[in-house]
Amino acid sequence: MTTVLSPEIVVVDSLAERCDRCGAAAKLELALAGGGGLAFCGHHANKFADRLAPVAVKATVENGFAWAGQSQPA
Ligand SMILES: [Zn+2]
Repeated sequence: MTTVLSPEIVVVDSLAERCDRCGAAAKLELALAGGGGLAFCGHHANKFADRLAPVAVKATVENGFAWAGQSQPA
């Protein structure tokens, strides 16, 4: 049984964070259901989208970046 919760999406003009994986400018910042947060560049945000979306309660996306985790076709 798989239940996928879509995080709340917030769009901002720019993010000050850096990718937790590679240090590039972050395009996505996540608040996790268990507390804490993560930040990812566009490459890593989309690479891990299917794993991140279910555990995030809120996703802050830089304006213009289309995160794979925010579009969940029914
Ligand atoms: Zn990265």
